[in-house]
Amino acid sequence: MKDKEEIVSCSNCGFQTKKGDLDRSCSNCFACTGCEIYICPQCGNEIVVKPMKKMEKNSSKTSPEN
Ligand SMILES: [Zn+2]
Repeated sequence: MKDKEEIVSCSNCGFQTKKGDLDRSCSNCFACTGCEIYICPQCGNEIVVKPMKKMEKNSSKTSPEN
């Protein structure tokens, strides 16, 4: 319990690091509902800790640029 930092591992290449050392893939998107997605610094794969929640409403808004 000394550190709150959790280790996450990339499912693609197996790279392991602390969450705090990673860049978050999702930071400020309008639809962010508490998801946690990071980018693997080694292979660029998305490391999904908490997937995005799906919106129940039928919103036809999509952002083409990403
Ligand atoms: Zn990776």
